[in-house]
Amino acid sequence: MSLLSAPMNKITLRAIQGGILAAGAPIGWLIIRVFSGSEPLAELQQHWSLYAYMLFGTQMVFITFSIYVGRQEQLISNLAIRDSLTGIFNLRFMVERMNEEIANAQRYNTALSVIYCDLDHFKKVNDQYGHPGGDEVLRQVTKAISFKTRTQDVFARVGGEEFAILLPQCNHSDAIDYAERIRKTVEQLPIQIPTKPAFGVTISLGVATLKEHETVNDFYKRADQNLYLAKQQGRNKVVA
Ligand code: GH3
Ligand code: MG
Ligand code: MG
Repeated sequence: MSLLSAPMNKITLRAIQGGILAAGAPIGWLIIRVFSGSEPLAELQQHWSLYAYMLFGTQMVFITFSIYVGRQEQLISNLAIRDSLTGIFNLRFMVERMNEEIANAQRYNTALSVIYCDLDHFKKVNDQYGHPGGDEVLRQVTKAISFKTRTQDVFARVGGEEFAILLPQCNHSDAIDYAERIRKTVEQLPIQIPTKPAFGVTISLGVATLKEHETVNDFYKRADQNLYLAKQQGRNKVVA
């Protein structure tokens, strides 16, 4: 993703806007002075310290306030698009991005794949380690998978112990390799829960690559069906 096409961080954007707005005070005062008969250049030369003070002072105030506003905005937008337990994206964001990425893939004729995955026998994990233990497993597994995702991928929690990874510009064979890497990562991950010996979990994964003129529902359904087959074939498997 190039710098120009990357969406600017809300805090940086608000800080820049605050900095620009801050120039309003000295410019406004200069305009008042010009209307009162002062020569702009002479006015600036004569009162340069006042103008410098106004510019610097308002910039400090505006930028500080803008950073605060940007942080609040980012916090609110994160609440709307992220899952509170794991911090990864939520179902709502996945659906939104899937629609966008399908439109992009069809417009520019690029590949788009999705991996739909579900932890194996998660009920047993909850039975053995309790619900808080199960929550910890979800956090550690999603963290490990997050390390494997590229910046353009969308990794979301789409159900209790179900996740989807949307892979823009990723063809079928690359998506299968990728799913296999995730399966191995989870299989090899030592889950650490305080006071308990480390243990492992496994994950089943279904892969689908967008077909021409395919709808969101059909695309997602194919990945879901492959996940179902992975479960049927004994779990801890990738089916494409
Ligand atoms: P399978 O291999 O067929 O997927 O078996 P499973 O036991 O993982 O599947 P099932 O869908 O029957 O059970 C999922 C369990 O996940 C049941 C539910 O209690 C648990 N679960 C769902 N959401 C959460 C959560 O947020 N935290 C915890 N700890 N458990 C959850
Ligand atoms: Mg499961
Ligand atoms: Mg499930």
